[in-house]
Amino acid sequence: MDNLKAPKAPKHWDQRFLVIASHFAGWSKDPSTKVGAVAVRNRRILAQGYNGLPAGVHDSDARLKNRETRLEMTVHAEMNCVAMAAQNGVSLVGATMYVWPLMTCSRCASMLIQAGINNVVVPDYVEPQRWQDSFDMARAMFIEAGVSVSRIPMNGPINPMEDSVNDEWTESIA
Ligand SMILES: [Zn+2]
Repeated sequence: MDNLKAPKAPKHWDQRFLVIASHFAGWSKDPSTKVGAVAVRNRRILAQGYNGLPAGVHDSDARLKNRETRLEMTVHAEMNCVAMAAQNGVSLVGATMYVWPLMTCSRCASMLIQAGINNVVVPDYVEPQRWQDSFDMARAMFIEAGVSVSRIPMNGPINPMEDSVNDEWTESIA
């Protein structure tokens, strides 16, 4: 029965929700960037999303492999999360948005601010240089709008599901 054991969850709540966001990231069909987002309030998940073409818009290989077409049509994980909440009539006011593995872009930042998100939590990974301007603008907007942004260490670059969370630094960010 050992193989039925679920992987051990990280101890810290921020890490747990980032792990969940990473799970949704894995559902993205985007060949180059897979991002997941989870909106949480009082430790309960309100909505989730991952990047992809809008529902009903055919995500053919031709579209997904053409960078320009893909960038034009793709709904980012954070936007999909906000749209899902809207479809279900769920308010995100005061919620925290967990995004894996990248910082929110400036377009999503403006949407998250308008949706009433209070906190944004991302893993503390190296940010790809090509989106640095957008990330910096997002951070500047969040600061101005009073939205906090936290970068959480995940102790290892690839698989946070592994039982590798070290008590020492879990304590230090708790
Ligand atoms: Zn975005």
